[in-house]
Amino acid sequence: MSKPLSRLNIFRKLVLASIVVGLLPMILGFSLSYYSQRNTITETMGSTFQSLAHETGVKLGLLIQDLLDKAVGLAQSDRLVESAADADRKYEGMNPDQIRAFIDRASARSNSSVDIGAMNRRAADALEEFRRRDPKQYHLLVLTDREGTVVAASPPERATRYTYRGEIEWEAAFDGGKGKLFIGDITLDTILSAYTLNMAVPVHRDGKIAGVLLLIHTVDRLFKSVTDVRIGKTDHTMLAASDGSLLFCPIFQIKNHTLSKLLSQGIFKDQDGWSTTKNDVHYPGREAINGFAPVDLKIENLSARSLGEQRWYIFTSQNPTETYEPLRSLLRWTALSAGMGVLILVVLAVLVIRTIVRPITLFQAHAREILQGIQALPMDRQKPVAPYVLPRMDIQTGDEIEDLAGTFSEIVGALENSRRLLYETTRRLEEMAITDELTGLYNRRHVMEELKAEFSRSMRFGLPLSCLAIDLDFFKEVNDRYGHLAGDEALRQISDLFQKNFREPDILARSGGEEFLVILPQTDIQGALAKAELLRKQVEQQDFTVERGTTIHMTISIGAAAYPDERIHTMDHLLKTADDVLYRSKETGRNRVSRG
Ligand code: GH3
Ligand code: MG
Ligand code: MG
Repeated sequence: MSKPLSRLNIFRKLVLASIVVGLLPMILGFSLSYYSQRNTITETMGSTFQSLAHETGVKLGLLIQDLLDKAVGLAQSDRLVESAADADRKYEGMNPDQIRAFIDRASARSNSSVDIGAMNRRAADALEEFRRRDPKQYHLLVLTDREGTVVAASPPERATRYTYRGEIEWEAAFDGGKGKLFIGDITLDTILSAYTLNMAVPVHRDGKIAGVLLLIHTVDRLFKSVTDVRIGKTDHTMLAASDGSLLFCPIFQIKNHTLSKLLSQGIFKDQDGWSTTKNDVHYPGREAINGFAPVDLKIENLSARSLGEQRWYIFTSQNPTETYEPLRSLLRWTALSAGMGVLILVVLAVLVIRTIVRPITLFQAHAREILQGIQALPMDRQKPVAPYVLPRMDIQTGDEIEDLAGTFSEIVGALENSRRLLYETTRRLEEMAITDELTGLYNRRHVMEELKAEFSRSMRFGLPLSCLAIDLDFFKEVNDRYGHLAGDEALRQISDLFQKNFREPDILARSGGEEFLVILPQTDIQGALAKAELLRKQVEQQDFTVERGTTIHMTISIGAAAYPDERIHTMDHLLKTADDVLYRSKETGRNRVSRG
């Protein structure tokens, strides 16, 4: 029937409405600002990481370039150039097959390791001096001749090969005799049991390759230069190759972790930029913000086989837990203040609404009281209720409800007035219906009703009941002599006299013209006769002033009848008997009382 909301009372409706009205904009504003803040933070952090990766890439590039420059410088040093040239002389006059056979024999003799004693001293010293300047940077420096066999090494005991021909570093640097600079991949050297970055540069003499200088670098400094770059606590700056292999990572150390293709594609979208990925490098399923930049090596004559034929990228990833921490802190505070706001809102709403609803509830209670008052008013005329006073609204709230209560009270007042008017009118109409207009006595109809009631009561309880029929003597003459108005006045005065002689429970009525009827309950014939006689005498002695200066005398004839009587069994018998004996009074000379 009614909708669920309308079952709520006004109080609940208002509380609900105010909470909705208060909360919706709060939640909306809160969400909007959260997402815009989040985007701003993502963008800011992304581009910060991008420039960080870029700087780190430049730094790493410079470091590698510096190492390469130093290697090139060493390769151009006289001692190395001359030593390589010296070593090459032993191949003079040999064809390639002879050279191979010569090398194989020598290699077999030396048991695949470097014969320290056979090393070129000058070159060995030059390499040793060079390495001593920065011993932590180099695992091993090796000079080979143009066929790849070791001329000198530093430190010599680490040079475990007799020849480097066939090794990628050597082949890339030799480049079929053309000579290229080579930077290797980050690799695990199983003999050194360490990660290394290998470089190889050709040693030229008179425009021809005399040998190759191999440099096996430690990666610690390079590693640090990348992984020590930090912005926060959870971010890490890494070096990756474009195939997705992770070269330097502060968590997984060096090159033992490969990024998934999807992830690396997600991260290295461009040359230089930032991206957000659904998966963190190390924690799949966790979002990450990544700034990335390629390691740009602007090196001329660099072998295409360098860097494992990959591009290197620096990238910085941060766990969004940290990235968004300021936002989360803001969120916490905002949520706290929003919570407080809601609490205050609810309290205020309840207070405000109570001030609105209270008068309404009060009004309702008063209205109910008034309705009960109205319902309590008896509609039965036999029980007159006067005055009609209903409860009034007493609401002093100083608002519209008070105005409404005032109007309601006026309505109640109007209702009272109309009820009172109705009562009075009804009473008057009822009075008029039983009253004789001229004399104010009961009329015939009413006296008949009363007689009926009295007669049945007398019959039931065996009580006596008398009736007097009265007629004025020669009244026609009064009219004839003084006029009809004077006659009326005489009738009024004689009625007043009658009224003075009869009290409750006697019933006195003008039954017609100048005839009267008196019912005397619980009165036997003796009592009736006595009253009749008394009345007759009083009339006889009374002066009636019918008009100014005109006084007349009147007499009355009375017929008295009483119940119980053997001839009287009904009310009509009683009336008829009284009438009959009245007639007798007339006949026997008037101004007398006769009994039935
Ligand atoms: P009696 O009864 O003694 O035989 O003589 P009466 O003159 O009274 O005769 P009757 O009863 O026949 O006449 C009644 C007269 O009363 C007739 C009428 O003129 C007069 N009468 C009746 N009703 C009224 C009334 O209301 N006003 C006036 N002024 N006269 C009335
Ligand atoms: Mg008469
Ligand atoms: Mg008469």
